Parts: sequence; C-alpha cells; structure tokens
Amino acid sequence: MLAYIGLGSNLNNPKQQIKDALIVLNDTQDVKVVALSSLYQSPPIDGSKQPDYINAMCQVDTHLTALELLYVCQGIETKQHRVREKKWGARTIDLDIIIYGVQVIVSKQLIVPHPQIMNRAFVLAPLAELEPNLKVPVLGPIQDLIAKLDITKLVKL
Ligand code: ATP
Ligand code: CA
Ligand code: CA
Repeated sequence: MLAYIGLGSNLNNPKQQIKDALIVLNDTQDVKVVALSSLYQSPPIDGSKQPDYINAMCQVDTHLTALELLYVCQGIETKQHRVREKKWGARTIDLDIIIYGVQVIVSKQLIVPHPQIMNRAFVLAPLAELEPNLKVPVLGPIQDLIAKLDITKLVKL
C-alpha cells in the first residue's frame, strides 16, 4: 500500500527532528520511505506566538494497516519527546497520515484522508510536489484544492 505521511516540527532543531523521524520510519519493519518532498517553512496556523514550522511530506510503501501505521507514527512522536500541552501547540515532531491508498477511514482514532488537508498549504504543497496529478480520495484533484488556498506565507526551502 502507498501512503503519504506529513511531518511537522517547530522545536529543538526542526529540520533534524524531521530527518530523525524519517530514519526511524524507514527502519520500521514493513515500512519503506520511497519519496520525500522539499522542506517548507510557514508561520503557525493559529497565529499564536510560537516558532515557524518546518513541514515535509513523504510517501511510504507499507504492509501495515493504516492503524498500525498510526501507532508507528505515534511511537516516533513519543521517542522524540513530543509533549502534548495544548491543541496546535509547539511540538518537536508531528506525524500525520494524510492519505492511505484510496481508503477512506473514519474512526475514533483515525480519519483518512486527514480532515484538515483542504485548509493547509503546508500539507498540500509538498504533497503536490510528490504527486502533481494526485486525486485525493473524497476531495478530488490536488491542484484544485491548492488553487483555493493562500500559499503566500509558505516558503519552500
Ligand atoms: P491536527 O490533527 O489538526 O493536525 P495535531 O496533529 O496537532 O492536529 P495530534 O495531537 O497530533 O493533533 O493528534 C490528535 C489525534 O488525532 C491523535 O490521537 C489521532 O488518534 C488522531 N488522528 C485522527 N486522524 C489522524 C490522522 N490521519 N493522522 C494522525 N492522527 C490522526
Ligand atoms: Ca498535525
Ligand atoms: Ca498529529
């Protein structure tokens, strides 16, 4: 199964946090990172006073179920000392499952495609870099989604 995982960080050397997470992800049994976007920088989405975010998107080829993949992502967050204080607060690392094949999942723990992607240039831009002709399950062509967003605050590094 091909899946896309979005990575984000704005604490403790974000670029290194993303690199470290990718290494652990790729070293996970039954998970191979097969493509990686550029890094993107943007201000926090809620306008709060915290450092800018660095985001990236990776494509993984995996034999894990979506839920198993979520647990792997959460394990990496814990390993990299993510502390959950408040919603959308600063974090060392965040891994979200953005897309899992063509599956549409709505459960208590997991919603795929990720429910916020249509509002997030820092997710859609790196995703489009990897897959410019992607049709996002439920939502449609990625280029149509990007066209509706303000991408002026997003900087490709
Ligand atoms: P957002 O989800 O708006 O990007 P966040 O990443 O900061 O915010 P977290 O605190 O990391 O939110 O995650 C909250 C919960 O979201 C997790 O416990 C997880 O069960 C759930 N979740 C639902 N769908 C997904 C998904 N596609 N990828 C990752 N987590 C998800
Ligand atoms: Ca997130
Ligand atoms: Ca998350």
